[in-house]
Amino acid sequence: MTFRARHLLGIEPLAPEEIRTVLDLADRYVELNRRTVKHADALEGMTQINMFFEASTRTQASFELAGKRLGADVMNMAVAQSSVKKGETLIDTALTLNAMHPDLLVVRHPNSGAVNLLAEKVNCAVLNAGDGRHEHPTQALLDALTIRRAKGRIHRLTVAICGDIAHSRVARSNLILLGKMENRVRLIGPPTLMPPGVAEFGCEVFDDMSEGLKGADVVMMLRLQKERMDGGFIPSEREYYHRFGLDAEKLAHAAPDAIVMHPGPMNRGVEIDGTLADDINRSVIQEQVEMGVAVRMAAMDLLARNLRAERGRALTGGADV
Ligand code: ASP
Repeated sequence: MTFRARHLLGIEPLAPEEIRTVLDLADRYVELNRRTVKHADALEGMTQINMFFEASTRTQASFELAGKRLGADVMNMAVAQSSVKKGETLIDTALTLNAMHPDLLVVRHPNSGAVNLLAEKVNCAVLNAGDGRHEHPTQALLDALTIRRAKGRIHRLTVAICGDIAHSRVARSNLILLGKMENRVRLIGPPTLMPPGVAEFGCEVFDDMSEGLKGADVVMMLRLQKERMDGGFIPSEREYYHRFGLDAEKLAHAAPDAIVMHPGPMNRGVEIDGTLADDINRSVIQEQVEMGVAVRMAAMDLLARNLRAERGRALTGGADV
């Protein structure tokens, strides 16, 4: 088992074998989560604080469940009612919480880089639950697990990521992970929704769904991130759906056994046809949610092991005993 990270701030710093370690352990937690009694003790006695400065359904719920299933004491900080509203800075809030000795801090923040900054100020393990348009590492890991279970591998696949790439941390983390694991990544969307410098990531770029989806094994749809748009990026949602919304007709260009993914929340009739999203023969959207709990359990378990080892070394003056 190889997992050296002290924090999980992004996919960027992870080595392929560390990614495989998380996925292998998550596979075991999938089995546990399907049992009636779902308890393990990897985080027994530890304190986990979730701080979400941006809306979340799946991520927050699954981090909470993941921590509880592993035996942690989990606290969800109600940011809306906290001193953040009185003008306290992120760092002051973090230092206050740090003084309460949490072991794991799960943070979502609207600003790219905010979670990395916070990780420098606290002495517990920090997990990035999404920062601006920067990274959403556990989403990419749960997507990888979903793909690996559906396709039997997470290398040498053609993966099409479609829609609002420019504003999406999910797209960014996914294309980094898929690149590290030697997959072929295609980005499809209107040029206005492609980030500058996209060529650096070594993926092909398309603005036509029929071209970009040709032969794809995996089709990953993204939501239009309106909260991060400060102008008119698309003519209208109707026009967008017509050109870039995934329906059965467009999906017919992909491989016959291609799977359809979406990180949620989904806007039916904007980026994806509702019937296709519910088609259990093509869509793995519910599996993604299931894998989310298992991947977050695995990530917290691995970080907790490293934290214990680090604290153990500190007690023995640096010697491994
Ligand atoms: N839930 C994902 C995120 O937090 C995707 C989205 O919001 O569209 O980035």
